[in-house]
Amino acid sequence: MRAAIFNGAGKPITIERVPDPVPGRDELLIEIGRCGICGSDVSMTSGSPFDYAVGRCFGHEFAGTIVGKGRDTPGWNVGDAVACMPKSGCGHCEACIEGRPLFCPTGKGVSEAFAEYLSVPASVAIRLPEGFSMSDGALVEPMACGLRALGSADMRGGERVLVLGAGSMALAVVWWARRLGAASIVVASRSAHRRDTCLAFGADALHAFDEDDPAELARALGGAPHIVVECIGKDGALGLALEHVRLGGTVVSMGMCTQPQPIIPAVLAFKEARLTFPLAYSPEEYARTAREFDQSGFRPDIMVSDVLPLEQVGDAIASIRGGVRTLKIHIDPRIAP
Ligand SMILES: [Zn+2]
Ligand SMILES: [Zn+2]
Repeated sequence: MRAAIFNGAGKPITIERVPDPVPGRDELLIEIGRCGICGSDVSMTSGSPFDYAVGRCFGHEFAGTIVGKGRDTPGWNVGDAVACMPKSGCGHCEACIEGRPLFCPTGKGVSEAFAEYLSVPASVAIRLPEGFSMSDGALVEPMACGLRALGSADMRGGERVLVLGAGSMALAVVWWARRLGAASIVVASRSAHRRDTCLAFGADALHAFDEDDPAELARALGGAPHIVVECIGKDGALGLALEHVRLGGTVVSMGMCTQPQPIIPAVLAFKEARLTFPLAYSPEEYARTAREFDQSGFRPDIMVSDVLPLEQVGDAIASIRGGVRTLKIHIDPRIAP
């Protein structure tokens, strides 16, 4: 099969012929239908200390169709459409017992979906509800991160929510904030061209960034925000979020900034605000994401701006890094190059 291989920062991502995966006893063989390019795929191929291992395939936002299975996979059938979490846990360490297998230190990563096929433990798969496209399925993963973000802020409903940035993480947060009963949701972004998409996901308004005027954003929200979710990840964004948050509020860092950020603890202390750093969802949050798309009739694939063949993974990542305006890029390995 064909698979995209990371060869180290600054080198081209190449498409290699590698052996077809063979499913183990408890595994499903998935033909990849869609795999999304995540912001982390850009930052983790950039020469940072967090880069992917050289010589391996990557890609973790995926959905596909079962085309083979091991003996111990009851309940699964060839032909089922599935979405998959990118890691399975060992089942008995502290992280797994606490319901957070994505943090399992010995778990098996299955994030190599920029390829035609991938074998995954059946435990990471969920069946896609009727009517879901492959692209909806591949968005369950990033959309579940939005649920986790607001969970980390103990959102109960009735909060004013400010979202900094208008990329796919921001849209996930907006959708869940609406679903969880936010009183008001404002997106602050330089990308005013994403206004319609933000509103379609449930935002009340999109404001062009005005770093100097938290009061203007507070007016749009009906008061200072209880929750500020930072989805930019660039220098200064976290500090900006701290300025905006209200007394007793929560700043959620979702931008995955890999650079040191100066924070003045007193700014937080004067408001008794707190700061959270969510990374990933639990299996329940992942399944709930697909279930609530199904119940609400919402189809997240309106955020997909481009669908490209496998051969263009490297160029697409380079163009995102270069600042080209795309929203969510999906790779479909079934498209001929
Ligand atoms: Zn991701
Ligand atoms: Zn474990």
